[in-house]
Amino acid sequence: MTSRQPAHNEPRREVPQRDTPQRGFQLLRYFSIASGIAVFIVTMVLSWAYYLKEVDDNVRATELRNLGLATAIANTIRPAYDEFLFQQVKTGVPLPDDPRRKELTETLNRITKGIPVVKIKIYSLEGVTLFSTESGDLGEDTHSNPLFQNARGGRTGSELTRRGEKSKSEDEIATFDLVSTYIPVMEANGKVAAVFELYSDVSEAVQRIERASLRLLAGLALIFASLYGILLLIVGRADRILRRQYRELKRKEMQLAAKNNELQIEIASRREVEIALRYSEKAAAKANQAKTEFLSSVSHELRTPLHAILGFTQLLESEPSTPLAPTQKRFVDQILKAGRHLLTLINEILDLASIEAGKIRLSVEPVDVASVVAECLPLVQEIAGKRGVGVATPAGAGNLRVLADYMKLKQALLNLMSNGVKYNHDGGTVTVEVAAVAGGRVRISVIDTGIGIPEEKLGELFRPFHRLESTAQNVEGSGIGLALTRSLVHAMDGEIDVTSVPGRGSTFWMELPAAPEMKAGVLGETPSKVELPVARGPGHEQCLLYVEDNPANVLVMEEIARRMSLRFLSAPDAESGIEIAVREKPDLIVMDINLPRMDGYGALAALNKNPATAEIPVMALSANAMDQDVMRGIAAGFVKYETKPYDLEDMTRKIRQLLSEEK
Ligand code: ADP
Repeated sequence: MTSRQPAHNEPRREVPQRDTPQRGFQLLRYFSIASGIAVFIVTMVLSWAYYLKEVDDNVRATELRNLGLATAIANTIRPAYDEFLFQQVKTGVPLPDDPRRKELTETLNRITKGIPVVKIKIYSLEGVTLFSTESGDLGEDTHSNPLFQNARGGRTGSELTRRGEKSKSEDEIATFDLVSTYIPVMEANGKVAAVFELYSDVSEAVQRIERASLRLLAGLALIFASLYGILLLIVGRADRILRRQYRELKRKEMQLAAKNNELQIEIASRREVEIALRYSEKAAAKANQAKTEFLSSVSHELRTPLHAILGFTQLLESEPSTPLAPTQKRFVDQILKAGRHLLTLINEILDLASIEAGKIRLSVEPVDVASVVAECLPLVQEIAGKRGVGVATPAGAGNLRVLADYMKLKQALLNLMSNGVKYNHDGGTVTVEVAAVAGGRVRISVIDTGIGIPEEKLGELFRPFHRLESTAQNVEGSGIGLALTRSLVHAMDGEIDVTSVPGRGSTFWMELPAAPEMKAGVLGETPSKVELPVARGPGHEQCLLYVEDNPANVLVMEEIARRMSLRFLSAPDAESGIEIAVREKPDLIVMDINLPRMDGYGALAALNKNPATAEIPVMALSANAMDQDVMRGIAAGFVKYETKPYDLEDMTRKIRQLLSEEK
């Protein structure tokens, strides 16, 4: 099978673009980065939230403390400074130079000593700073402060502020975190009279909170970083696995695509092979037909002259009026022998060729093996007798039957038996054995005590025209018998083989399918001998018409008719033959097939159509001797289909038989 490139229009499997899965991997990376950022933000937010909450809690706690402190301060300073304060509240103007202010400041400083209160202020309802422990603040306006407004409305409120204060050296700024709480100061009637503000220093607490928040941040960052690291490891591992799987997938996909392409190519080339096969099948059928035609024409062309040779030689040999001198007889015998050998050879070659061309026609039926053996026996006994070879046939083979073509089986067996005699020692034996074997088959063995065959030569035996040097030196033969026998046996669904011991002899065996059980008397009956009456009756001279275009053939037949005392008529073509038949009404017509213009089949049809000749038996005698020729002849209505060359005695017997039937 030749490989080829796929055609443009052949389906091609698209290989997916390489970057498609990369996006998946990129997504993983993005996911890692995004989750990193998220972890960072969450850490920050958590820490910040913690910080805010702690600070808020602290502010609340400070507010409560400031509230308590403010109440205590109020209770403490009230009786002594009520008037001073009340006076300011009433006027809404601070009295900075009032000595009571200084006094009050000192009192308050004393009270709040050790407490982280850094400043105390008192506002008028308009937001004016009426009093402050730091004198610089007096008169400041705070009315826009929402917490002041709240306190003015009666609600306490606090806020955290960060303040920077230069140190004494003026180069560093110290920061303070202060909680300023605005507390309404109530009159006895429940009205807000003024607003009290307390500044508490919560720097320490705030720093503590900041440190705690930082620790929390660090802790969370560590935890999240570890988790994130683990996540990255997992993602990285998953990524590697995915990449590996992807690469594997890719490789398989490419292999699949390559396989697919190969398959497409394979399918395409198979299609081509199929087409080529169909084409060569047609060519083979044509060639076979040509071979068959060639075979039948060769057969015809060889048989025609051979017929003349054999015919006239037989006539010479058997001419009663002029018997041959002994030397002449010897020579004529040689011609006859060579001619008959040639005829056998032609027949065998044609048989072999027609089997090989598948043209053999078999009439497979249950065949009684014993009767085939019995028929072969006299045929080999003649040469066996000359060499003192004994032929033993089986006693118990009577019941065994095989499915075979009777004539072909006989031909095969005869071949093996005559080889057994031919390649035997003088005085040796040939034994035929028949036995049922496994697998529903029957084995027929021909065992000789001859020269045997070396093992390495066994494989050569069945080659056409091949003869073994060791055995064939002094024995006549063509080397085709075994090849033909094997083809025949195979055609009948059988097997053939050989075992041999050099110097001791050989066993050729064939196995054929056994036939179903035997019905006595139905099969394998040998044809009975025909008694041959000669004449129709007193005074009636029987007439034979021979339609044949070859004068030599006519001459041979004329001589046979003369010896049989028959009236002989002949015609060189079908038309005149029919004419003579209508006029003379012969007792038997012998018809050649290949005639000029109208052939033997046309002539037979014309004779059968004409009432004057329809009853006359017509025998075909042709050099067309292939199986299919014979079948066609019988099917067309010839009473017999005989082939040239024929044996004179045999032909005489057949003509006698037909004439007696006709009578
Ligand atoms: P042929 O007998 O005409 O030569 P065959 O095809 O029948 O052709 O046999 C082929 C060859 O096989 C023979 O020439 C002979 O050498 C060998 N052979 C056949 N039968 C036997 C046998 N029974 N014993 C020994 N050799 C044999």
